Amino acid sequence: MENSVEKLVIIGSGPAGLTAAIYGCRADLQPLVLMGTKYGGQLMLTSDVENFPGFPDPVLGPDLIMKMKSQAERLGARLVQEDVVKVNFKTYPFEIYTDSGVTKALSVILATGANPRRLNLESEMRLMGKGVSNCAVCDAFFFRGKKVAVVGGGDTAMEEATFLTKFATSVQVIHRRDQLRASAALRKEASDNPKISFVWDTTVTDVIGEKKVEGIRTKNLKTGKEEEIKVDGLFVAIGYDPNTEIFRGQIQLDSKGYAVVNGTESSVPGVFVAGDVHDFRYRQAITAAADGCKALLDAEKFVKQKLELKAVS
Ligand code: NAP
Repeated sequence: MENSVEKLVIIGSGPAGLTAAIYGCRADLQPLVLMGTKYGGQLMLTSDVENFPGFPDPVLGPDLIMKMKSQAERLGARLVQEDVVKVNFKTYPFEIYTDSGVTKALSVILATGANPRRLNLESEMRLMGKGVSNCAVCDAFFFRGKKVAVVGGGDTAMEEATFLTKFATSVQVIHRRDQLRASAALRKEASDNPKISFVWDTTVTDVIGEKKVEGIRTKNLKTGKEEEIKVDGLFVAIGYDPNTEIFRGQIQLDSKGYAVVNGTESSVPGVFVAGDVHDFRYRQAITAAADGCKALLDAEKFVKQKLELKAVS
C-alpha cells in the first residue's frame, strides 16, 4: 500500500461509502475502503429498517450494513478496519494517513457521515431503538396511535414533530428555551398543527422504562420544577455533528462543519463527498447510498481523465 497509488480511496463505511465501493468495483477502480474501527455508521445503532427498498420484511440496521459490506467484498473491494487520522489534499496524488501508514490516491470519496447529538443520558442510550430515536422518517410508523415527545427547537425538531403527527396522537416538543431556532415556515407549520404542543424552558433529565420507553422526566430551567410525562417514544432532534474534523483546512466546510459541495465534488477537484457528511437535509440510508453512487460516477470520470493525461504525457 505504501508505495503504490490507489485509483480510489473511500473513507467511511455507511451506505454512502459501501455503495461507492460496490460501484467502484464495477468501474474497475479497485477501491480501498478505510472503514473506520467502528464501521457501518448510524445504521449500526438502528433496529428495524422498513423503508429500504428490496426488503419486504424489516431488516435490522447492522444486518443491512453487513449485506452491503459482503456485496462490496464479493465484487473485490478491499475493506480495511482502520481510522483515518490525517489527510493531505494539498498534494497530488492525495495522501491519506492511518496508524499503519500513508496511502496515496488519485481520487478520494469522503463518506464519514454525521453523528446525531445526544442528550448524554444513560437511559437514552439504553433505550435507543426501543422507543428512543433520532429519525422520525425511519421510526414514526412504529408510533401509530401513541404519544411521543421531541426534544429540540431547530428545523429538524419541527420537521420531526410535524412528520410524527401522521401517526402519533400527540407530539410534545420539549425545548430548553422559550423561542424556537427553527425557520419561520417550519415553526408556523408545527405551531399550527393541533396535535403538537410545546413545553418551554425545559430539558429532559431521564427516559423512564426498562425495556421500552414509558415516559420522560423533565426539568423546567426557569422554575426548577421537575415532572414526569407519559410518552411511548422520545425523538432526540438536537442537531448533528458531521465527521469532518480531519478534513478541516483541507476542503471547504460550512459554518456548521458540513462539507461544501458542487454536485458531489468538494472544493478540491478529485475529492468527492457522499452522504450525511454534506447532506443535513435528507439523511436517509437510501439517499446516502444514492449519493455514494453519484460520487463514484464522478470519481470514475475524474480518474479516467487523469489516467488518459498520464498516458499521453
Ligand atoms: P440546530 O439548528 O443546531 O438546532 C438544534 C436545536 O436543538 C436547537 O433548538 C438547540 O437549542 C437544541 N439543542 C442543542 N443541544 C441541546 C441539548 N443538549 N439539549 C437540549 N436541546 C439542545 O440543528 P438542526 O435542527 O438539526 O438543523 C441543522 C441544520 O440543518 C440547520 O442549518 C437547519 O436549518 C438545517 N435543516 C434544514 C431543514 C430544512 O430546510 N427543511 C431541515 C432540517 C435541518 P437552542 O435553540 O437553545 O440552541
